[in-house]
Amino acid sequence: MIQENLDPSNMKDSVFAMAVEQFNAAADVLNLEEGMRQVLSSCKREFTVNFPVKMDSGKIQVFTGHRVQHNMTRGPAKGGIRFHPDVSLDEVKALASWMTWKCAVTNLPYGGGKGGVTCNPKSMSSGEMERLTRRFATEISPLIGSYSDIPAPDVNTDGQTMAWIMDTISMHKGFTEVGIVTGKPIEIGGSLGRTEATGRGVMITTREAAKHIGLNLNGATVVVQGFGNVGYWAAHLLQELGCKIIAASDSGGAISRTSGLDSNELLAQKNSTGSVSGFANCDVITNEELLETSCDILVPAALEQQITGNNASRISAKIIVEGANGPTTPEADKILTDKGSLIIPDILANAGGVVVSYFEWVQNLQRFFWEKEAVDKSLDSILTRSFNEVFNTSQHYNVDMRTAAMVNAIDRVATATNIRGIYP
Ligand code: GLU
Repeated sequence: MIQENLDPSNMKDSVFAMAVEQFNAAADVLNLEEGMRQVLSSCKREFTVNFPVKMDSGKIQVFTGHRVQHNMTRGPAKGGIRFHPDVSLDEVKALASWMTWKCAVTNLPYGGGKGGVTCNPKSMSSGEMERLTRRFATEISPLIGSYSDIPAPDVNTDGQTMAWIMDTISMHKGFTEVGIVTGKPIEIGGSLGRTEATGRGVMITTREAAKHIGLNLNGATVVVQGFGNVGYWAAHLLQELGCKIIAASDSGGAISRTSGLDSNELLAQKNSTGSVSGFANCDVITNEELLETSCDILVPAALEQQITGNNASRISAKIIVEGANGPTTPEADKILTDKGSLIIPDILANAGGVVVSYFEWVQNLQRFFWEKEAVDKSLDSILTRSFNEVFNTSQHYNVDMRTAAMVNAIDRVATATNIRGIYP
């Protein structure tokens, strides 16, 4: 536990402080001793790079990026890279720590890492993005590698970004290092089922939660904040189970339609105009109205700290499935849990991506590729098992699902740390 983060006056906007607060709630349940708390709430390595990129105008611009390895006790660091104007070291540290817990709660042989570059991809050309990506990959090359730290896509990065990273590192090495990133296009060693994996995990964990609370998914209403890769696939797969999508948003705006929206029509609109906003025969609503829309299932699949003490009391969803990382603040967690909402925490709800990243990495190391059915089936069994383990822990300790997920995750990492011992 990092001391400055325990001062409530510093807690307000720090995403890492929020992650540490979640950690401490579970550490209390486990009666974790002080030294172990310090080990597990600190980031092992925090790496910041400032690097130049030649822009299309011919001018040079310096960008700042980070790669953080939170914990590597159970295996290589694993976690995405995001490109966004709000990226900061504080945010990347929080995201790295959530990756440690995500990999532990699903029992993948990984630690947690994350990377990010502060930039606005929406105002940059493809050529500028490629140069930024290749230079950032070079700058963090002392850290990343198939056996040390394996990046993947996150906000505003995709298979193409991963292809540039793989190519850059492979050019430096003189041979192709396929396993250095996951979320690659199929043609260069990606896994079938990876693109939709995070959304599929949202669907699987929603399905399991619905069973536990007796919610019939046929006709259940769904609101999706953030119609990106995760939001689209979650909406699409929930729609396949009979759910009705009644509102959706992205950075361009929010829309609602009580009679239901078709996920594929929304995607076509987004692909042609860049946003779901402007979709025909819909009400235009604000982001706040979207979150507060009366529904059975709310899927926050955008950014952190969207559901807060300011709006939680007006959110009425029966199940909140965190497709995004860190969308709910601890204050909002308490308000919603007291109101009887079931929150499926990020480290469980959106773990489908990293689970299939793990399958991709295994396929890369073995040079042996799986059928899509095998990928989907293994993902389903890992997430169903993890969901039920977390549900049982929440009943056993009488705690909410986030604390229960953290308890299971922390217990695994603490046990591994104790078995390995403290070096030297
Ligand atoms: N960025 C995704 C996440 O937050 C995927 C990480 C990965 O596959 O390594 O879980």
